Amino acid sequence: MVRNLDTIPVSDWGFFDESIPPLVIAGPCSAESELQVMMTAKGLQALGIHVFRAGIWKPRTHPGSFEGVGTQGLEWLRKVKQGYGLKVCTEVASEKHVYECLKYGIDMVWIGARTSVNPFLVQEIADALRDTEIPVLVKNPVNPDIDLWIGALERLNRVGVRKLGVIHRGFTTTGKIPYRNEPGWQIAVELRTRYPELPFFADPSHMGGSRQHIQELSQRAMDLGLDGLMVESHCDPSCALSDAGQQLTPEDLGTLLKALTVRQKVTNDREYNDNIHQLRTQIDVIDENLIAELGARMEISRKIGTFKKAHNIAIVQALRWESVLSGMIEKGKAYNLPEDFVKAVFTAIHEASIAVQNEILEE
Ligand code: PEP
Ligand code: MN
Repeated sequence: MVRNLDTIPVSDWGFFDESIPPLVIAGPCSAESELQVMMTAKGLQALGIHVFRAGIWKPRTHPGSFEGVGTQGLEWLRKVKQGYGLKVCTEVASEKHVYECLKYGIDMVWIGARTSVNPFLVQEIADALRDTEIPVLVKNPVNPDIDLWIGALERLNRVGVRKLGVIHRGFTTTGKIPYRNEPGWQIAVELRTRYPELPFFADPSHMGGSRQHIQELSQRAMDLGLDGLMVESHCDPSCALSDAGQQLTPEDLGTLLKALTVRQKVTNDREYNDNIHQLRTQIDVIDENLIAELGARMEISRKIGTFKKAHNIAIVQALRWESVLSGMIEKGKAYNLPEDFVKAVFTAIHEASIAVQNEILEE
């Protein structure tokens, strides 16, 4: 069931200059020292960036890793605000973090992927934000569960947080992929479709996990029509105390942003130019998933083939096939898929499965 969110459009937050898309939030993974924070902010302000991020409390996998400078970093963020006129934001993972941020005049907070996964913590944070005005961005939970993500948005909205947005940073995976996190763009597309009013950021830094991927992932986000990017930027990335491999200097971030092709959202040719590219990219994401699913299906077909051979069972099981096909035709109706189409697709899949199982039998 889709529940509506009662939100205030990002154009009324007074944070971003929407005349030059995308909306950008940039800054170091972690605030490390006053000098590092101020140097980075200076470089980013020179690029025309308006919103500065820095982690103050860092959720690290191993204890003993750098876990953030804590409250003293909030003082540095206050200086960034005063010195460079940037809006400042940080990650909160508990009510204590929220109270500290409110005390120091932090302009916006985000809930990280390891926290949005936990309804108790999200509720605790939401309760601490009741009766405040600050915007809250919610990162996707580490696991690809769109309802958990939506549930976090609902919890915040229920206590009156109306300046709400989302950040897509991909999902934990055990698969072998070139990125730190599985992009899972189809979940972003789904959330975007359900809540088009929410400002939607991609975080190519945590998704990619390495500098070399940030450009392509940022471009993908733009092609999907997302509104903004949260990118990690550090004045001296090689010396960063966390996520050193994925941070860009402000200068490199400037180069990346210049090279981005940002699709126009409103043009005279809206019917065609505006939407076609985004739709095709969404189709590409679905097609990529289809291929992966077909591959997984075929893998199972092979196993079945091996099993049938071991037990000396015939490959074609007519009754089973008929029930699969009629079941799919029935399910297809709920999605407005014509019967002939479903039949053609599943007949092709079935034939390919039989061919693979035949090969196994002949081995
Ligand atoms: C971060 O943005 O610093 C961070 C910890 O990201 P995530 O919650 O996406 O892992
Ligand atoms: Mn980081």
